[in-house]
Amino acid sequence: MMDFYQAQEQLLQEAPCHLNSEATPLLQAGQRFLAQDLYATQDAPLFDNSAMDGYALCGLNETTWQIIGVAAAGGTEILRLHPGQAARIFTGAGLPENTEAVVAQEDTETTDTKLHVTTHIKAGQHIRRRGEELRKGARILPSGSLLTPQAIGLAASQGHAQLPCFPLLKVTVFATGDELVGTQTQQNLQHNQIFDSNRPMLQAMLAQQGFIHIIDGGILPDDLAATRAALARAAATSDALVISGGASVGDRDFVKPALSELGDITHWKLAIKPGKPFGWGHIGHCQVMLLPGNPVASFVTMKLLGLPALRVWGGSHRIMAMPECHQAKADFTLQPNHQKRREFLRGLLRFGVDGPTVKPLPQQGSHMLSSCTEANVLIDVPAQTDIIPGQWLTIYPL
Ligand code: AMP
Ligand code: MG
Repeated sequence: MMDFYQAQEQLLQEAPCHLNSEATPLLQAGQRFLAQDLYATQDAPLFDNSAMDGYALCGLNETTWQIIGVAAAGGTEILRLHPGQAARIFTGAGLPENTEAVVAQEDTETTDTKLHVTTHIKAGQHIRRRGEELRKGARILPSGSLLTPQAIGLAASQGHAQLPCFPLLKVTVFATGDELVGTQTQQNLQHNQIFDSNRPMLQAMLAQQGFIHIIDGGILPDDLAATRAALARAAATSDALVISGGASVGDRDFVKPALSELGDITHWKLAIKPGKPFGWGHIGHCQVMLLPGNPVASFVTMKLLGLPALRVWGGSHRIMAMPECHQAKADFTLQPNHQKRREFLRGLLRFGVDGPTVKPLPQQGSHMLSSCTEANVLIDVPAQTDIIPGQWLTIYPL
């Protein structure tokens, strides 16, 4: 059985599904991946301007200055100062010609049009210089960047109306199991039936990502021929398939055999709890991910392995595709813990005087989704390791 971090590394080595790019309007590019390096079209700032609300001064050895006008952000008037002259100026306004320094409003006193400065003035103070942040032609975002709100803002500041993005990743999501009933189709469950929770949950997880086009594959019966036909059909039109359930070792688990017949299984089975039956492979050019059927296992593996892999397949930079993680001190004991598998416990992170501490919730069954909604982190407990209070542990925010 493969360790979690080894599986993560292998998954992130898989090649992206697309190399071409499509021009995407700025407001539709959020949470997508940039398909080419993006460059500054102009210096930033574009002109010398004031960093403060205050006064622009000419002649720094004077004791008083004559206020001759106002320089406002967006103002069209061009002022010129001579020694002994000042202009009222606001943050972001272009400097009047011959400005030697800007003095903050709170460091001044005025009587009529006379200005007195109550602090020492340094030449060049409170001035933002043209090009001090970026020079025209500088790379502002590398290919593979996630277009976060701040990246969209930066692109907008450089006048980019469209961004070259990788095409949306077409992902078909299947649930499998004769016991499953879709919430839309039927409200009354018969003997031995349960509602399908994984398909809506996985689709909701994918919907949080801006780079995915979700296709609902429905619920597959526990039947080899039907599974094989559905996977073959979906693989022909999708970049990736996400399939929950049917990937264990039971007689009624048909996803693995169907995948072996249609394509290849790259790897199957991980030394993690929950999530042992996780696997991946491909059918032709279509990537395929097998998730465990138990809802918590499906959630945890999708969060920590599935989404990072989909990000890489969708064009993300590898390092940025990794799940967010932090460290917190254990506020619990696990002793002795001879677990053969790494565990991801659903836990509560708290911030106190001792810094961040973390504690597992009581219900850890891999069928108990309620603990996933109560928890705010997953706690990474390495295999065969005793945990003592105060020990630093890796945590993954939910
Ligand atoms: P399987 O991996 O198909 O053997 O399923 C393992 C467990 O997860 C069984 O108890 C299934 O009933 C349950 N399960 C599988 N798929 C789903 C689903 N989509 N929603 C809720 N429970 C599921
Ligand atoms: Mg099943």
